[in-house]
Amino acid sequence: MVTIACLLQRAQQLSSPSAKLDVELLLAHVLKKPRSYLYTWPGKELAGDQQAEFEQLLARRHAGEPVAYLLGQQGFWTLDLQVSPHTLIPRPETELLVETALSLAQDKLPVRVLDLGTGTGAIALALASERPQWQVTGVDCVEQAVQLAQHNGLSCQQPQVRFLQSDWFSALSDEYFELIISNPPYISLDDPHLQQGDVRFEPSSALVSGTDGLDAIRHIVRQAGRHLAEQGWLLFEHGYQQSTAVRELLAQAGFVKVRSECDLSGHERVTLG
Ligand code: GLN
Repeated sequence: MVTIACLLQRAQQLSSPSAKLDVELLLAHVLKKPRSYLYTWPGKELAGDQQAEFEQLLARRHAGEPVAYLLGQQGFWTLDLQVSPHTLIPRPETELLVETALSLAQDKLPVRVLDLGTGTGAIALALASERPQWQVTGVDCVEQAVQLAQHNGLSCQQPQVRFLQSDWFSALSDEYFELIISNPPYISLDDPHLQQGDVRFEPSSALVSGTDGLDAIRHIVRQAGRHLAEQGWLLFEHGYQQSTAVRELLAQAGFVKVRSECDLSGHERVTLG
């Protein structure tokens, strides 16, 4: 029989920068307990099947699989979202996009919002949870992502959020929105970052966008004019070295009030107009 304290030591086997946290999350998941339980009951012994499940998860983590895929969930904003290898894992830096969107419109207005490439539904559901009177739509071209977002809508008590399968705007022929928001794929094809860490396991359709990473943003900027209500805003998350290029794309397409916002590391991560 092996104890919790003994299994916590196994973090030393992982090369992940978050090895201690990874092991705690996997162990708490197997035991179906909060992380604090591990330190309250370090002498507790695991049942044989629990230990086997933990060993399997640890081996997969050792091979590089993201913890969020192993747990099947990831926290974003105030929400617990189900994730799958069909979707990008929501990132903390994307909360800047949510904060920026929330700052653009007053609470009371019934704003129509479109989240392009919604994945797990993270951005759409975070906005809907803060502004119940907003009409939020999330679209994704991947059928499994739409199903997952719909599932997350129900589990986060946001059943009013509409999720559709659509290749960017293709399923939204004559609809208008006050806010169009997107965390699109923005990594360039030959970026060495794609060979490292969690991104190796994430769908490339959610990450990679042409030789300069800007194909999706260019496409959305070109099409957005047909779907943006008067005085509406278009907002993107992008790579930290892409802000100048995104501002130029927006300005060239006739957008005004174009500006970028910095993330917690001081990088321009969000651009809007
Ligand atoms: N921010 C992610 C990363 O660099 C990429 C997300 C995206 O392409 N939208 O890992």
